[in-house]
Parts: sequence; C-alpha cells; structure tokens
Amino acid sequence: MITIALSKGRIYKETLPLLEAANIIPAEDPEKSRKLILDTNQDDVKLVIIRATDVPTYVQFGAADIGVAGKDVLMEHGAEGLYEPVDLRIAKCRLMTAGLVNVDSSNGNKNGRLRVATKFVNVAKRFFESRGEQVEVIKLYGSMELGPIVGLADLIVDVVDTGNTLKANGLKPMDHIADISSRLIINKAAMKMKHARISDIIEKIKAAVEKNA
Ligand code: AMP
Repeated sequence: MITIALSKGRIYKETLPLLEAANIIPAEDPEKSRKLILDTNQDDVKLVIIRATDVPTYVQFGAADIGVAGKDVLMEHGAEGLYEPVDLRIAKCRLMTAGLVNVDSSNGNKNGRLRVATKFVNVAKRFFESRGEQVEVIKLYGSMELGPIVGLADLIVDVVDTGNTLKANGLKPMDHIADISSRLIINKAAMKMKHARISDIIEKIKAAVEKNA
C-alpha cells in the first residue's frame, strides 16, 4: 500500500493533474467529502487529506509514504527524514518580510528590538540571525497582516503572491527570504522498502512537471 498525504485547496487542485499523469485518480473529491482517507482508482494507493503544516510530519514518521508540501512549510518544519525529489512548480509564491507602508523599521523600533509576528517562527529566527539582528518573534496562527496595524509587531514574515493582501492592509513587502513552490516529499524508509512503486510514481510526476514547463 502507498499512502499519499495532501492538503485541500490550491495544493490539491494543482496536484491532481500530476497524480493523473501517474494514473492515480481519487475516487472522491475531498472538497465535497468529509472523509480524511480517500481511495483511488489504484487498489494499492490511498490519499490522506490533512492540514498543509501536518504533511511533513506524516511523511517523516511514515504515516504517509509520499506527500506534497510547500517549501515554506518544509523550511519551517525542518524536513528531517524526508527526500524532496521533485519541485512540482505549483502554488508558487515568495516568503517575505513586510511592514507598514509609512514606517521605517530598518533600524529597530523605538525600544530597540524589533518584534516580528509570524507563523514561520523558525524561518524568521534563522533569517534575522543570519543578518545579525536580534528580534523578538511572536507566534501567530493566521492573519499576520493585522500584527503591525494593531501594534502587536513591527514586521511580519508571510507568504506573498500578488501582494494584494499586504497592500489592502497598508503593508509593503520588504525583504525577500525565499522563493516558494510545492515539493514532492518521500519518507526515506519507504523509498527503500517500496522502491519500485514509489520510483515509478516519482518518475511519472517528474515527467508531467517537465512537460508543463
Ligand atoms: P496575495 O496574492 O499576496 O494577496 O496572497 C493572498 C494570501 O494567500 C496571502 O495572505 C498569502 O498568505 C496566501 N498565499 C498566497 N500564495 C500562497 C501559496 N502559494 N501558499 C500558501 N499561501 C499562499
């Protein structure tokens, strides 16, 4: 049995044609079903539908053999125990710092240390450390854009696509931390134990990605 971990929404929609190229077709649409485990047209392949941030964890511990996860999620998770064989080139965006349009936060705030609100706590710490800046990182679970507006934080670290969400909230993108896209990830032990079946899926998905390029 091969278990593939996916999250609903954009990643699911954009992964579907790639799975189809490997002749894997879900039996149901997860957007319309409350089921967490979906059968596919292949007797030996099932899908588990989970939160995007949980995908690396499932694959790391072997609860899923294969997963699709954003590079942002992988950078935050640490991605230990995982292979990352294919950049799927889907769900592209950028991981950025952002701050209020009319505020210069480049030299710290009036109390010295900048406060950074983000759900990407590890990424933010690493980024500011690499620049030799001491910041206070505040963990949030969503709506990071609100942080600077209500004075919770000077800056945020978030994924940005068009930048419209930042703009609508009076924020501007500042430092580019990384280009993001979704990656195919594989459990290392499964790669050895189920090598033939998993390699076949990887190769077919890789070929479909290259055909789209
Ligand atoms: P934007 O187009 O910059 O206004 O992005 C809209 C919202 O979607 C932002 O709040 C981002 O956090 C989120 N977003 C955009 N692209 C992605 C992506 N590839 N993965 C996850 N979240 C995203």
